[in-house]
Amino acid sequence: MGFNVILGDMDSVQTNRPRLDQILETVRRYWGFDALRPLQEEAILAGLDRRDSLVVMPTGGGKSLCYHVPPAVAQRTDIVVSPLISLMKDQVDGLQACGYPAAALHGGITPQERRDIEVGMRAERYRLVFVAPERLLSGSFLSLLPRGGVGAFVIDEAHCISHWGHDFRPEYRRLATLKERFPTASVHGFTATATPRVRADILEQLRLTDPTVLVGSSDRPNLVYRVVPRVDVVGQVLEVIRRHAGEAVIVYCISRKDTESVAMSLHGHGVRARAYHAGMDADKRRRTQDAFAAEQLDVVVATVAFGMGIDRSNVRCVLHAAMPKSIEHYHQETGRAGRDGLEAECVLFYSAADAMKWESLIRRSAEEAHQPGEVIEAAVEKLMHMRRFCSAAQCRHRNLSEYFGDTYDRTDCKACDVCLDEVEGVADATVTAQKILSCVARVDERFGVGHVVDVLVGADTEMVRRWGHQGLSTYGLVKETPRKALTNMVYQLVDLGLLGRSDDEWPKLQLNEASWAVMRGEREVRMVQPQTKAARKTDIEEASWEGVDQGLFEHLRTVRREIAEERGVPAFIVFGDATLREMARLRPGSRDALRRVRGVGDRKLADLGERFTAEITGYCREHDLEIEPEECDTRSDDPAIAVDKKLSRVREAALELFAQGRSVSDVAAELQRAPSTTLQYLVEYIQAKRPESIEAWVDQDTYRKVAAVADEVGTRRLRPIFERLNEAVPYDTIRLVARHLEVRT
Ligand code: ADP
Repeated sequence: MGFNVILGDMDSVQTNRPRLDQILETVRRYWGFDALRPLQEEAILAGLDRRDSLVVMPTGGGKSLCYHVPPAVAQRTDIVVSPLISLMKDQVDGLQACGYPAAALHGGITPQERRDIEVGMRAERYRLVFVAPERLLSGSFLSLLPRGGVGAFVIDEAHCISHWGHDFRPEYRRLATLKERFPTASVHGFTATATPRVRADILEQLRLTDPTVLVGSSDRPNLVYRVVPRVDVVGQVLEVIRRHAGEAVIVYCISRKDTESVAMSLHGHGVRARAYHAGMDADKRRRTQDAFAAEQLDVVVATVAFGMGIDRSNVRCVLHAAMPKSIEHYHQETGRAGRDGLEAECVLFYSAADAMKWESLIRRSAEEAHQPGEVIEAAVEKLMHMRRFCSAAQCRHRNLSEYFGDTYDRTDCKACDVCLDEVEGVADATVTAQKILSCVARVDERFGVGHVVDVLVGADTEMVRRWGHQGLSTYGLVKETPRKALTNMVYQLVDLGLLGRSDDEWPKLQLNEASWAVMRGEREVRMVQPQTKAARKTDIEEASWEGVDQGLFEHLRTVRREIAEERGVPAFIVFGDATLREMARLRPGSRDALRRVRGVGDRKLADLGERFTAEITGYCREHDLEIEPEECDTRSDDPAIAVDKKLSRVREAALELFAQGRSVSDVAAELQRAPSTTLQYLVEYIQAKRPESIEAWVDQDTYRKVAAVADEVGTRRLRPIFERLNEAVPYDTIRLVARHLEVRT
């Protein structure tokens, strides 16, 4: 099949200038964006030309805009096929909030809503209509299609058509007849994850004619990937969640039972968490989805390979309590983080035990379903890729990119545990390995991991007594190491091939040649342990907060939540986090200034402009912050593009000067910045470097006074502190002390 593949960033096509202006005008009007991202232009032009296309872009890459724009520019109605009601609902809510005429026909609407939409469709009032694949080809839906015929069909999550993909849906197969039934309409497939094999399958299944194939890089530079040995999953999950207090987090577990127990433990620690899995009734699941979208719930604990409906663009962290069974799953699940282009963290808690559990599960269920051997082997091979991803000390971004057939040309991603140099080796790993292996020898290779660990930590169990293992020389040999940490190390030895495991129902640990080489001291062993230092902030995270007043950002989030509640829509429909951060940086006090913020289109300006400018002005007055500071009068870059850019030189210079203890006025003069901006740099310096003392900027006496009041009233709001100190200590000083107290505790 012939098609032209366009890879990566093509230069803008000059000949399309007039059309491009029209496209940009539409993008500005509805969404308030002033530029297109790589490949969006090509994808939109394919839509406008009604030339079949397949667009592969990572989650958060901006696929939706590619099919939102063409019917709006061409003033026609396109049909979007989408696999889930919740995905359709979010899209339609988001589009309507921008004033874009769209509707969705699905089982979740009332008869009256259905009738209204049908009338709207007959009047060709909508630019986009969303529908599920099984409904698309039904007679009742077909009768509603525009009389002049449909211009284009959009197939969202197109990988669902391929059973080589990870989310095969039989009902998608019916889409193969689209081209036959509507020979004049173009068909456009969109997907985030597609290996070359899935891609070829999509083209074939959809019977695309001479399609444009646009393949963006699969890399998500705004995500930080970490793989951490799992030793105490609830404790480890909690530790990461605390780094994201008040932010959206998804935790993935393998079993339904695990989702319930992890959610309950988190809840017990005061986290707003709920479980989410396929075994729950639809109503309960919907309530959880809605609460998460409305920001009334911070953490959802879901089963792996489930939760496509768990959608929120500002998920700042995705945790895997256990390893997923393929890189495709991992990529899609972590893909739900940072869809707004802002920084997000993905941590996978790994034990080789997961790979073993998955393998026996895959084999067992395949046998029960009488699947052919090649299907089982393909699934096991996918599993092995995932396992290698976890156990290899190789850049995670590179590893993922190469898996999806991309080249990765950076030497240091600066956004994974390996490149950030966070992977911490176990001290004396070889000695510990020798102790473990000799214990396996002492128990005659007749026991599994649990018992060997019991012997090594010197546990007094029934089994130990029954076999008289308390008399072994290895009994209690590693008693200083916690049981769970030691268990993880045993699995690491299995992962490294230094220890074997039998195939029985109760697998026994067995020695191999490599084990003996370690015991004889001929082979060094390297094992890893969870990092003991606090995780560092990445450049991406620092850059995305540059110049942003965090207090104002939090305040605007509250305002957003209130509006979302009033209107019964997900919070991110009101404004995305990227837009709120931009507001907290530019601090617009007027409609004109607000219009310059990325993400504020005509409808939202009219609808929400007054409320937001009033809130921003009020907050700035209360906190003595400059409105529309002059240094911030330019838009920052689109975060999806800016992540690659270095921190601004000025800011770096400021942080260096503060490290030397220079005063705010001094630094402001040297860098020719306004004092308010310079002060913001000092706040960021305190945040980033956590200096022991800030005596260079606040004298000890004043510090103590502010700290004493903050101790009583908290550090979130500055006004109460200001008032309690009889307005004698300036806001700036209070802000510095408050931030310092926050980072030092
Ligand atoms: P995908 O469908 O590929 O997962 P989305 O279409 O949801 O991605 O886009 C991800 C985010 O990027 C959204 O917050 C969207 O508003 C934003 N976005 C998309 N295109 C642009 C653009 N050209 N400029 C700025 N932001 C954009």
